[in-house]
Amino acid sequence: MELGNSGDPAALPELVELTRSPAANVRRLAASAIGKLAGLADAKGAVAALQPLLQDSHPQVRQYAVKALKAYGTAARCALSDLRDIAISPVEKEYNQRDAKLAVETIEEALRIEEKQAIHCCQRCGVKLEPDEYVRSHKAFQRPFCNYCFDEVFLERRNFETKVELQKNIRAKDGT
Ligand SMILES: [Zn+2]
Repeated sequence: MELGNSGDPAALPELVELTRSPAANVRRLAASAIGKLAGLADAKGAVAALQPLLQDSHPQVRQYAVKALKAYGTAARCALSDLRDIAISPVEKEYNQRDAKLAVETIEEALRIEEKQAIHCCQRCGVKLEPDEYVRSHKAFQRPFCNYCFDEVFLERRNFETKVELQKNIRAKDGT
C-alpha cells in the first residue's frame, strides 16, 4: 500500500475508511499507515479509527493497532484501558501482550510528562522534552531527543548507513 508511506496527512480519511475493510490484510496495512502519520495527521481522528481495531478478530490487525496507538502518545489516552486488557488477556497472543504493555508504558509516561510529573531531557542538547517528543524519539531510538536533535540524529544515521552501503559496494568491486 502506498497510502501512508507517503507521510501525507491528507491520506488519513481514506485510511480510516480502509480500517473498516472486510479484508484483514487491508485493515492491518491501514493501521500501520495511520501509525506512521503520528505527529502529522489529526490525532483524534486517527485514534478514533485505531481503537476499534483493538477488538479485531485478527491478531495481526490488533498488533498494528497497538503499535500505531503507541505512536500517538497522549492522544491515545482513551485507548489505555483497552490496551491494558490486551496486555493481561490470557487468550491474547504473546506478542500482542508484550506490545500492549509497552504501549501502555509509553502513553502513561507521555501523560506524566504532560502533567509535569515526569521530566525527560534531550540526550543531545538537554532541553526538556514535550510528550510527543518523548514518544517519537523513544519509538525510533529508545533514547530521549527533542524534535530538533531527532532530525539531526536521524540524518546522521542515514548518512552513516549510506556511507556503509557505498563502501560495501566499493569493496565488493575490488574483491577485497
Ligand atoms: Zn535536543
